[in-house]
Amino acid sequence: MPELPEVQTVVSQLEQKIVGKKIKDVWSDWKKKILPSFSTFTKQVKGACILGTRRYGKHIVIDLDNEYSLVVHLKMTGHFLVKDEANRTTKAFTEDPVNGYIHHIVTFIDGTTLEFSDMRKFGWLHTMKTEEVETLASIVSLGRDALSPNFTEKYLRDVLSGKKKQMIGAILLDQNIIAGIGNIYRSEALFLAGILPTRRVETLTKNEWPRIVPAIKKVLRQALKLHGMSDGDFRDTDGLEGRFQQTLYVYGRGDKPCKKCGTIIERKKIGQRSVFYCPHCQK
Ligand SMILES: [Zn+2]
Repeated sequence: MPELPEVQTVVSQLEQKIVGKKIKDVWSDWKKKILPSFSTFTKQVKGACILGTRRYGKHIVIDLDNEYSLVVHLKMTGHFLVKDEANRTTKAFTEDPVNGYIHHIVTFIDGTTLEFSDMRKFGWLHTMKTEEVETLASIVSLGRDALSPNFTEKYLRDVLSGKKKQMIGAILLDQNIIAGIGNIYRSEALFLAGILPTRRVETLTKNEWPRIVPAIKKVLRQALKLHGMSDGDFRDTDGLEGRFQQTLYVYGRGDKPCKKCGTIIERKKIGQRSVFYCPHCQK
């Protein structure tokens, strides 16, 4: 599932590629994921120009010049492709099967298309008044953004003071505490911090606490630089894979030797998802 670096990659690319463009029409063959309804959606976006793009956790927000915004969640396998005359027939678009599950298309008057490919069809697109975006339940409940300056050790210690029995591996996935981290980056961040995912909050020492937030930010920034990672289905708006997977220390490397010490990487389920760790480098 796309996490902060993948979603931010999309937001930054959309900002460069579609701002200023005017929407001519929309098409969908999976209308139940177009909210509040396909006809309302069409009415609210047709004829509008794209003003800008933003991100809230893993939500993409595309603001229009008519006081409406388009809020999008990629969920498991959703991703946007931006196609125009020059790139429409590139191999990434025509030969990569992951880019072939197009269920929604926004067409601009200059012929550019914003296409949503989604094999599992869980992703959703929702129009609403721009002023209402921050009142959307899944946005209201978000904790601080993992890359924002106000996501600090003090914040984390404060919000975790009532969750002392929980495992740090579960905490990192909780969007109501930290927005943007998912399964991949929690494993990598805890490896960098040298902390086992099974550790309970109450057992973290004064030497360990200061390592957590910087490790999270470091791994997310590095992933962002590499356009995230394609653990299967994520593609950027050019239809290309992220390159972060080449730098993974633990995620997806169960039964392989640790890149730092050679110990075999282990995996465990926490919060119904697999977390990977080195039993030697992480305490
Ligand atoms: Zn190791």
